[in-house]
Amino acid sequence: MENLFSIYAFIFGCLIGSFLNVVILRMPAEKNLVTDRSACPQCGTQLKWYHNIPVLSFLFLKGKCGFCGSRISWRYPLIELLTGFISFWLFPDDPSMQNLGPYFFNFSLACVFICHFFIDLDHQLLLDKLNIYLLVLIVPYSFFNFHWMHGLLGGVLGFGVPLLVTWLFYKIRGQIGLGGGDIKLFGILGILLGPMGIFFTIFLSCFVGAVIGLLLIVSKKMSKDKPMPFGPSILIVATFQIFFSETAHIIQSWFF
Ligand SMILES: [Zn+2]
Repeated sequence: MENLFSIYAFIFGCLIGSFLNVVILRMPAEKNLVTDRSACPQCGTQLKWYHNIPVLSFLFLKGKCGFCGSRISWRYPLIELLTGFISFWLFPDDPSMQNLGPYFFNFSLACVFICHFFIDLDHQLLLDKLNIYLLVLIVPYSFFNFHWMHGLLGGVLGFGVPLLVTWLFYKIRGQIGLGGGDIKLFGILGILLGPMGIFFTIFLSCFVGAVIGLLLIVSKKMSKDKPMPFGPSILIVATFQIFFSETAHIIQSWFF
């Protein structure tokens, strides 16, 4: 029975992952997420229902459009599998109401992270809409589970420190360092992670961002003057802080 629930959780995750693909594609373009039928980006033919089965359609079609044969990005099945796996992994052994609450909270958080991550990669945008979803998830959770000072201080620090650094950087260098979306995201994560947690998240995000940037420049995947999206670095670090807190503590101890 337990195994059966886990399989359902995995399938549920894959279906949600398929919807996340739609969000990642359409939300930055401000297209409707529900009413428009999916179509091939190359030939524009509307897809049939059997072209829309998570992961399986990609395998059956051998990664090509069923009409024009143009390649379908491997990112679609990857995001479906990733979301399925996260749902499977988070699903409680004992699916009582008491445990299902945290499952839905964590899974929703992971879903918004996935959308933020890929939209920022594609468009260098952390959309306000997604930040508002995060805020709506995080504020009640934080105030039910922690002392109100935890959320308040974390939020103020998470928003204030990056804003101050960005302002100073602008005054001194005349350049915009962090985007508004990055600063808002730090502020919202601060409400969940508290003052210490967000302090480490800001510090480690800069470190991860610098390492990724350096690797991209050295491997000539990116030129020095092209701005790099910072959201993915923030989200990678926040994922560790929230879902792998023990590993995050070990990593923190290397620095402090
Ligand atoms: Zn096509």
